[in-house]
Amino acid sequence: MTTTYAYAASDAKAKLAPFEFQRRELRAHDVQMEVLFCGVCHSDLHQARNEWKNSIYPVVPGHEIVGRVTAVGPDVTRYKAGDLVGVGCLVDSCRTCPSCAEGLEQYCENGFVGTYNGADRETGAITFGGYSTQLVVDEAFTLRVPQNLDPAGVAPLLCAGITTYSPLRTWGAGPGKKVGIVGLGGLGHMGVKLAHAMGAHVVLFTTSQSKVEDAKRLGADEVVISKNPQEMEAHANSFDLIVNTVAAQHDLNPFLNLLRRDGTMALVGAPEHDHPSPQVFNLIMKRRRLAGSLIGGIAETQEMLDFCGEHGITSDIEIIPMQQINDAYERMLKSDVKYRFVIDLDSLRK
Ligand code: NAP
Ligand code: ZN
Ligand code: ZN
Repeated sequence: MTTTYAYAASDAKAKLAPFEFQRRELRAHDVQMEVLFCGVCHSDLHQARNEWKNSIYPVVPGHEIVGRVTAVGPDVTRYKAGDLVGVGCLVDSCRTCPSCAEGLEQYCENGFVGTYNGADRETGAITFGGYSTQLVVDEAFTLRVPQNLDPAGVAPLLCAGITTYSPLRTWGAGPGKKVGIVGLGGLGHMGVKLAHAMGAHVVLFTTSQSKVEDAKRLGADEVVISKNPQEMEAHANSFDLIVNTVAAQHDLNPFLNLLRRDGTMALVGAPEHDHPSPQVFNLIMKRRRLAGSLIGGIAETQEMLDFCGEHGITSDIEIIPMQQINDAYERMLKSDVKYRFVIDLDSLRK
């Protein structure tokens, strides 16, 4: 056992504070890593504050992890000490149900094991995430990080990247397709970069006038201020796909109006309170679809990392020491992130 230094929330109202615990002894297929960088996802904040009503305290958040392998179990074949690896939102699943068999572990019919706030399938112990100095994960849920990319900028790909990549691929983003991304935060800025790299015509919807120029720099062909009805109306009935990343409850109708016949809006934002139901006629008159999407499976996450390696894509980040996490959460709530906070875990090793 090795002592791990971390930050944890002790209850829904508490600020994150220093916390120590032991990682498990290596099992046959386990990879042990020193955590180098961990992205700060809005889901971390939702769960630290029990906004999804399923948090088990203490919560050590963090599921956008890049680390360096320090040791491996006796039966590990894919990784060795020194390798640069990634871990996302999943650390295990049943591996036998139809979804797991299709490589869609995030939809495991027996429940996937989350990187934090999950229950270990052997011991039932609650998992602790990447706001920590070390991690132990089965090699089957460990990913290879492309050598040519900046490791800190890779960390957010493990959740923000795959969560936007997967619906873009599922609903066919590519040349000739008009794709909207709603919200320019952690997920949204990756959605813009990825949809652009896939060759789609990309329109970014934002509530923040100050983000217009950035959105264009990141790869948006057009930017719409979603609070302006005239700007919205100009795009009516024209989108093949809209990926909605907004982390707060809002009216979906103005966005559904923008879908062409048979167009899809995929919700990935997971707010504390549900959106009001959209108008039914808004869907049926044009056979529009309102869908949802959860992160991505392990194989698709590796595919996304390799795609980012080929296209030189990383997240735009602001590196912080662990000690600034509570300020970072407050800034995230004000949509003041350009465009992902990434924790440098060296700040906990000093
Ligand atoms: P984030 O960095 O905070 O970005 C969210 C963006 O939404 C903001 O930057 C803002 O963009 C927009 N926004 C926020 N409040 C708004 C409001 N009241 N009205 C309109 N727009 C608003 O969050 P994130 O890390 O990207 O995560 C986004 C959501 O996705 C969270 O709910 C998170 O839990 C969820 N999530 C889901 C999955 C999944 O698998 N489905 C995976 C990861 C995260 P503008 O300033 O541009 O308007
Ligand atoms: Zn996340
Ligand atoms: Zn399963």
